[in-house]
Amino acid sequence: MRRILIVEDEIGLVVPLADRLRAEGYDVEAAMDGQTGLQRGLTNTFDLILLDLMLPKLSGMQICKQLRQQEIGAPILMLTARSQVTDKVAGLQSGADDYLTKPFDMRELLARVAAMLRRHQTKSGEPLTTYTFGDVQVDMQRSAVVRSGEAVSLSTKEFQLLRHLIERRGVILSREQLLGDVWGYETATLTRTVDVHIAWLRQKLEPNPRSPEFFLTVRGTGYKFAG
Ligand code: CA
Repeated sequence: MRRILIVEDEIGLVVPLADRLRAEGYDVEAAMDGQTGLQRGLTNTFDLILLDLMLPKLSGMQICKQLRQQEIGAPILMLTARSQVTDKVAGLQSGADDYLTKPFDMRELLARVAAMLRRHQTKSGEPLTTYTFGDVQVDMQRSAVVRSGEAVSLSTKEFQLLRHLIERRGVILSREQLLGDVWGYETATLTRTVDVHIAWLRQKLEPNPRSPEFFLTVRGTGYKFAG
């Protein structure tokens, strides 16, 4: 599920906006002031951020700059009550990807959101930047994993295996393939290594490791990621 952060202080806008985005199948979090918004943006992984320009405590522009300085790459759609060209230009210069002037049509916003998510995901051959399954968010760029808001520590190999499985989600992969692709071994003598690492990923990331929902065993063949 794609995760969207809304940073907006007008309750009359946040509630219908969040409801509508949830109805469209997005996982939505909202922050009502600039400081909380920045905090959320820095500590959680989102696929897109809707950022109001005029906010209490920290402006949308300041948040945008700080997120980019911290290498948060999620696309940012700036919401601005002002229609002056200077604000739009400044917003884009601070690292926003697009802007929308309030009041806006909800359908227009949904179309922009969908387009930005699509663009962000399909930039020619670039790998995914973030991926969410269950209560787990994976930040590919920073090799960081967060579960229910808590950082999960993975070894380098565990993370490489996780990334490989996510990139090939839905595909059945044999132990030999995984060994070759993730560990670079040519022989099939250490397939147990794969089993051990899958078990660790289940332990750390599955709601119930004994009955996996995401890291599935395909009997007689190998594994499949179903996130
Ligand atoms: Ca505002």
